[in-house]
Amino acid sequence: MFLTLTTTGTPERPATDLGYLLHKHPDKAQAFSTSYGTAHVVYPEADDQRCTAALLLEVDAVALVRRGKGKGRGGAPDAALAQYVNDRPYAASSLLAVALSSVFSSAMKGTCHARPELPAEPRPLRVEVPALPARGGAELVRRLFEPLGWAVAVEPVALDSEFPEWGDSRYVRLVLESQALTVAEALRHLYVLLPVLDDAKHYWVAPDEVDKLLRAGEGWLAEHPEQKLITSRYLSRRWSLTRQAMERLELVRLAEADDSEVEEIDNAVGAETEEEQRPTPLAVQRRDAIIEALQASGATRVLDLGCGQGQLVQALLKDPQFTQITGVDVSMRALTIASRRLKLDRMGERQASRVTLFQGSLAYTDKRLKGYDAAVLSEVIEHLDLPRLPALEYAVFGAARPRTVLVTTPNVEYNVRWESLPAGHVRHGDHRFEWTREEFRAWADAVAERHGYGVRFVPVGPDDPEVGPPTQMAVFEIDQAGPKNEKEAKAA
Ligand code: SAH
Repeated sequence: MFLTLTTTGTPERPATDLGYLLHKHPDKAQAFSTSYGTAHVVYPEADDQRCTAALLLEVDAVALVRRGKGKGRGGAPDAALAQYVNDRPYAASSLLAVALSSVFSSAMKGTCHARPELPAEPRPLRVEVPALPARGGAELVRRLFEPLGWAVAVEPVALDSEFPEWGDSRYVRLVLESQALTVAEALRHLYVLLPVLDDAKHYWVAPDEVDKLLRAGEGWLAEHPEQKLITSRYLSRRWSLTRQAMERLELVRLAEADDSEVEEIDNAVGAETEEEQRPTPLAVQRRDAIIEALQASGATRVLDLGCGQGQLVQALLKDPQFTQITGVDVSMRALTIASRRLKLDRMGERQASRVTLFQGSLAYTDKRLKGYDAAVLSEVIEHLDLPRLPALEYAVFGAARPRTVLVTTPNVEYNVRWESLPAGHVRHGDHRFEWTREEFRAWADAVAERHGYGVRFVPVGPDDPEVGPPTQMAVFEIDQAGPKNEKEAKAA
C-alpha cells in the first residue's frame, strides 16, 4: 500500500517545506508502527524545486486477523477477513487512510508550530496512488475528486498485464493534481475518499466514526455533490449513522446559509435519502421537547450548559419569550463553531444582546451562572466522570439555583433498538456512563431531595413498551416550600 505526495517550489517557497508541513524531515526515513503493520515515510526526492514524500504501509496480515478475531463483536465475520488478508496488503484502502491519519495527524489538522503560516498556504500538489481499489470505477473517482478542485487522471489497472483479454481489475492508478489546495486539505480528502472508493472498511464502524468523518470533512463535505454517497459508504451503509451525519452536515450547511429552520433539516435530509417515512431525528425531537418545557416554565433567562455547537441556542433565539440565552461549554472548539453558526459577529445589536457564549466547566461553582430562570443540561451529564457529578450537581442546583432545570441523558435500555450499536456499547465514544431509567430516576430524585426541587420525568422519542424512550428528560422545578428544604440541604 503506497501513495506519494509531491510538491514543486521556487527558491522563495522551496518544495522542501513539505517536510515542515508533514512534520517529517526529508533527510530521514522514518517508520511508525500502527495497529495493522508498519508505516514508512520516505522522501524519494527532496530539493527546492521538487519534493516527494511517500507513505508506504507494510501490512501485518497476522495482526490484522488477530485484531479482527480479538474484537469478538457480533457481526465482525471471520469469513470476510479472509478477503482482507488476500488483498489488503497490496491496495491502498481504509488501512492506508488510518495510517495517514496516525502518521500525519498534525498535518491533517493543519498545524505547524515551526512555521505557523505554512499550512494555510495552497501549493502545487500531486498525489499518486498506483493501486487504488475503486468500486464505481474511474467515473466515480472523478465525481469524488473533481468537485474538490483536483485535476484527476485515472487509469484502470489490467487484471494481468500479460493477458489483456482478461480485462481490468477493480483497481485504478490515480493521479491528482492541484494548485489551489493545502496539504491539510489534500490529506483530509484522501483520508475520507480512499475508504469510500474501497467501500470495504476493515474495522467495525462505531458511532464515533461520524465525528471522524465530520472532522475530516470540515470545509468541503457539506457542499460536496456526492455527499450522500460519501457519507453512506464511509459509514459502511449503516443507515442510522448516515442519517446522523447527514443531519449534522445539513446543520453546517444551514448555519452557513443563514435561513436555518430546524424543521427544514428533517425535510431536507428526507428528500435526499431513499428510505421512506423516516421519523424526525432524535436530536430534533430532543430540542423540541426542551423548548416546550422551557416555554411552559415561563422562563425568559435561560442557560444552556454544555451547549456544544449551539443548536439549542440558535433554536431558542427564534422565540422572543427568551430574552437572555447563555451558552456555556468547556470546549473552546465547540464554542467557536457555535459562534460561527449563530453568526454572532454579523448579528444585529438587539439580537446579539440576547446571546452570550462563554467557556466554563460545570465541575466548578461559577458566579456567572446565577440569576437565570432555567438551565438546560442536554446530553451533558454522561460526559462527566461519575465522581465529578456531585460537583456539577452543586454548581447547578446548589449554587446557580435556577427555578427550572432540564436534564436529558440517553436511556441505555433503548440501546438494543439501535441497529448500528454493537451490544454493550455506549452511543458516543465520550460517554462515561449511560443510565437505565431506574438509575436516572434514582439520581434525579436524590438531587431534587437534596436541593429542594420537585422532579418529573418526560420521555423523548418513541416510548418503547419494553425498553422505554431513547432519551430521558428530568424536569426539576424549585419547590415552593423551598426555604425549609434549602436549609436542610445546607445542613446536609
Ligand atoms: N447540549 C448539546 C451538546 C451535548 S454534547 C446537545 O444536546 O446537543 C456534551 C457537551 O458537553 C460537549 O459540548 C462538551 O464539551 C460539554 N461538556 C462536557 N463536560 C463539560 C463540563 N465539565 N463543563 C461544561 N461542558 C462540558
